[in-house]
Amino acid sequence: MKEETRCESCGKETQPFTSILFGSMEKGYRNLCLACYNASFAEDMGLNFDHVDFAPIKLTDVAGEEHEFHFAARLLGDKVSLEALEIKDGIPRGYHFQVIGSNPEGEPLVLFKELYERMRRALSQKHLDNDDDYGPHISNEGIARGRIDIDLDDSEGDRKPLMVIDGKEISWQEFGRMLLEYEGWNFKIEIFDRSEER
Ligand SMILES: [Zn+2]
Repeated sequence: MKEETRCESCGKETQPFTSILFGSMEKGYRNLCLACYNASFAEDMGLNFDHVDFAPIKLTDVAGEEHEFHFAARLLGDKVSLEALEIKDGIPRGYHFQVIGSNPEGEPLVLFKELYERMRRALSQKHLDNDDDYGPHISNEGIARGRIDIDLDDSEGDRKPLMVIDGKEISWQEFGRMLLEYEGWNFKIEIFDRSEER
């Protein structure tokens, strides 16, 4: 099946990360851009929601590397989600940020500012040091923050996590090697929703 790349309401070209399949098993699904999805959702809910398609931006991290972000605003009932996805070669890879606003009728720029500040804070942090001989390792502070993803490139058959730290994809095996540098040390693991910052 060919993937629908246009919004079936307004005809605008969509990317998988800026569109949504909307509908039901009985009535069938339509590919909608987030603007049309949110407008339809807001109408059903009787909400005065102001959808903004924020333009993609490029931010430079503390190591001087550039990251391109696309934004996705989505109504979630009485809340609103604004996400920033790093796009590499046309697909979301690397950093992924989300903030949740408790007032869908609020000013979109306020939520955008909150997200942007969080992105700036994250990009000013580095958890991995790079060693030319051994590859990346967890820096001396002994803290690694990141996202747990799934390794789709892993061909061994069993599902393995992919750790995304400093916007870089670290395979499960490589993460294991990085931990082994701290053999004999203790650790604490804390898992939280991606809309939270800790
Ligand atoms: Zn549309």
